[in-house]
Amino acid sequence: MEKTLSIIKPDAVKKNVVGKILSRFEDAGLRIAGTKMLSLSAEQAGEFYAIHKERPFFKDLVAFMTSGPVVVSVLEGNDAVALNRKLMGATNPKEAAPGTIRADFAESIDANAVHGSDSAENAAIEIKFFFPELSKCGCSCSH
Ligand code: ATP
Ligand code: MG
Repeated sequence: MEKTLSIIKPDAVKKNVVGKILSRFEDAGLRIAGTKMLSLSAEQAGEFYAIHKERPFFKDLVAFMTSGPVVVSVLEGNDAVALNRKLMGATNPKEAAPGTIRADFAESIDANAVHGSDSAENAAIEIKFFFPELSKCGCSCSH
């Protein structure tokens, strides 16, 4: 069993497709172990995407992620990290495979509907960021 963090981004929340996206996870065999709607502060969004701090799109990314509420979830299942990334599709929806979440619900590389952890290691860090109560220990393991 593996865990991963999903964020349904402000564009998808505005489009009213939260339920449809969560159903995709469940239909693929992932379990929703935790979920909540919240609005990110610029500080939180900047910390979450700190790895992209030097990229030219960082300011726009933080502005977009704080433009409305998001739904953050912990997804659990076999190969949860890779399975979620597969369900999401490529970062740029124009390159996303047919039937993926980004192909079906995203408009652009900026407004691309969902975030998913890109490794088990980052999943543990991201889960702790949003759901400290679901992290069993203080280290960055995937508990
Ligand atoms: P996410 O981390 O949101 O799941 P990702 O892992 O597919 O997306 P990353 O490379 O981590 O892609 O980029 C994080 C986010 O930054 C992307 O979701 C996208 O919104 C934005 N982004 C990435 N590359 C670009 C780019 N070249 N131009 C504009 N925005 C970009
Ligand atoms: Mg990423």
